[in-house]
Amino acid sequence: MTTPNSSVAPWLLEVKNLSCGYGDVSVVKNVTFALGQGDIGCLLGPSGCGKSTMLRALAGFLPITEGEILLESTPISLPGRTMPPEKRRIGMVFQDYALFPHLTVANNVGFGLRHQPQADRRQKVGELLKLVHLQDLANQYPHELSGGQQQRVALARALAPEPTLILLDEPFSNLDADLRRRLSLDVRDILKTLGISAILVTHDQQEAFAMCDQVAVLKDGKIQQWDVPYNLYHEPANRFVAGFVGQGGFIPGIARGHDAIISELGVIEGNRAYTWPEGTLVDVLIRPDDIVHDPDSDLRPKVVEKTFAGTSTLYRFRVSEDTEFEALFRSHLDFHLGEHVPVRVEADHLIAFPRA
Ligand code: ADP
Ligand code: MG
Repeated sequence: MTTPNSSVAPWLLEVKNLSCGYGDVSVVKNVTFALGQGDIGCLLGPSGCGKSTMLRALAGFLPITEGEILLESTPISLPGRTMPPEKRRIGMVFQDYALFPHLTVANNVGFGLRHQPQADRRQKVGELLKLVHLQDLANQYPHELSGGQQQRVALARALAPEPTLILLDEPFSNLDADLRRRLSLDVRDILKTLGISAILVTHDQQEAFAMCDQVAVLKDGKIQQWDVPYNLYHEPANRFVAGFVGQGGFIPGIARGHDAIISELGVIEGNRAYTWPEGTLVDVLIRPDDIVHDPDSDLRPKVVEKTFAGTSTLYRFRVSEDTEFEALFRSHLDFHLGEHVPVRVEADHLIAFPRA
């Protein structure tokens, strides 16, 4: 027998038509998304687009003006009704770690457990320190730790009260690129091991893709697309997402039929149908890995820029005033500035938008 609700996904977090901001200024505008139990979601967007503001609303630090936020189907924020942060079972990790400088690592992690019996608390802190690989540093103070270690302490502290959801606001941005990548994968492992859901805020697309199951791309406080990383890259919903996610640029083209575009790079065949009329002026997304070197090609654009990057080289090619694009070649394919290089477009996903 099925109950009326049995087909509804068991969302952990539901954000419905959420708007919030400061004073009369709306920063987050009509945002809707839902996060499944155990999933890691991401708010990705340029600086100032409202990511931290949305996180503050989720945490209960900022009242909302429209819509609702539900955690495990219970409303935690409605206009005029905000469940206080400490009642929400939501943990937070910030960019600047925000550890208590006068407390040891163990006492920082145990801070949220200070009302529990000491033996329980000690055991729990021990388990968490092991989980974040800091068991040997229990008695150190924050200033004696590296940035990466401090951020692990912050994560363990947020996990200690067993929250249902963890919010991470640009947690790795103070770390160097290498450490950032390793720590983001570690944190993903830890969250997945514990089955804890999380929302990561970042402006770094690689971090978002490496760590998250689903990503919301935000612009000016509005969600442009909420999707799995693969689709954001291969099926961007609009020009902004196409430009913000991944590398690439647009070249002009003209729609032919419903699945091809005529451009100065030749006819680019698509794998999906568009509904635009024949002859519509469009912009076609060309990613650096859509271009291959082909000695037999008649298309011979000129190298106008060259950026050596070790195993590969990024070239900028010009066909005409209007049509420039980038291509990534393995670095043994070495061409000089001004050289005309035979290339061909090999895009398995045709991404184009009608010209504004
Ligand atoms: P992000 O985290 O995406 O960089 P924020 O959410 O911090 O963006 O900021 C979004 C917008 O809200 C910005 O225009 C910012 O100036 C404004 N803002 C942020 N915090 C406050 C505040 N406490 N009071 C007024 N305006 C704010
Ligand atoms: Mg921010």
